[in-house]
Amino acid sequence: EKVGIAVVGLGKLALGEVLPAFGQCRAAKLAAVVSGDPAKARRVAAQAGLPDDAIYSYESYDRMAQDRRIDVVYIILPNSLHADYTVRAFKAGKHVLCEKPMATTEADCRRMIAAAEAADRKLMIAYRCFFEPANLEAMRVMRSGTLGKIRSFSSDNGRPSSLSDPADQWRLDGPLSGGGALTDIGIYGINGARYLLGEEPVEVRAWAYTDKSDPRFAETEDAIHWQFRMASGVIVNGSTSFSYASTSRLQAVGEKGRLVMDPATNYRGIQLAVHEGGVERRPQTPAIDQFAREMDEMAMVVRRNRPIAATGEEGMQDVRLMLAILESVRQGGAAVRTDWGYKRAVDP
Ligand code: NAD
Repeated sequence: EKVGIAVVGLGKLALGEVLPAFGQCRAAKLAAVVSGDPAKARRVAAQAGLPDDAIYSYESYDRMAQDRRIDVVYIILPNSLHADYTVRAFKAGKHVLCEKPMATTEADCRRMIAAAEAADRKLMIAYRCFFEPANLEAMRVMRSGTLGKIRSFSSDNGRPSSLSDPADQWRLDGPLSGGGALTDIGIYGINGARYLLGEEPVEVRAWAYTDKSDPRFAETEDAIHWQFRMASGVIVNGSTSFSYASTSRLQAVGEKGRLVMDPATNYRGIQLAVHEGGVERRPQTPAIDQFAREMDEMAMVVRRNRPIAATGEEGMQDVRLMLAILESVRQGGAAVRTDWGYKRAVDP
């Protein structure tokens, strides 16, 4: 029997990627939808072949506790809402797959982790790149040593945003997003540096570059440039923006070679190039549906107790690093220590 997933929030990602991905799932199936818009929920449920009693609202949400068709609740809401809906899902006895960023405060992350423990249920953060074959191949190359000692790492992740897009309105809102481009798309560079280098930042410095006359950036910063000093000494240069052209790039430069992913974290069409000994190769990896793979993984976590790489602690590490970046921005680029000793328990 497939693992039943309730999708919470019928916005851009849910409708555009997640619901279509169920068609490619082997171990997971759509069991319910949660929406504040009854007409939209009925339309989506009908299209997906769900019965009317598999439609929930934010008010009837807690009644999912009685619904045995639902094993997992998949939270696809604006960032600052992740924590409350995750905690409520655990109280209803469900497992939770929660979109990135995990939350907007460290306290919320801790609340989510504690709720999972109290309920004895699983929490996984939706880091789809942990299952994406080109990213996994890049991790393998980085670990293999063929690039030599890594001397430099850089990443740029951003896109133009628009106040006329409802999905961007909350992303440009301070409290709902937790930090504009940084928490939305900058997180890919932070997480990417960590999973490719296989180590954690001990110190962060960051600067913002925001045109405050641009109405989009009344509440949040636009471009943020940060530096991580990693435990080994490697310096990471990262940037993010909600006004520059669409960019998703990760690059590591070692003494003997270089690896570049561009685009690195898109839904489709990820390109990996590896330069070793002056020769470029482009490893071919299968094109998969990252959301289907991720939901199948969640099903294995629930059914087979498969170890989780994208744990709550892993999600919280990115949240804490983003908060350290924002703190350094406020202090005009002052160094903020981040050597609190986090280590990922399970590699992707
Ligand atoms: P969206 O705005 O299109 O969808 C959010 C949904 O939440 C909407 O349907 C909205 O009506 C609903 N909602 C419920 N309560 C709300 C409230 N109080 N204020 C505003 N909206 C409310 O956004 P999206 O692009 O689908 O993003 C949703 C989440 O998914 C975010 O956390 C985002 O970071 C994440 N996301 C992840 C990826 C990925 O590749 N993993 C890609 C896109 C989005």
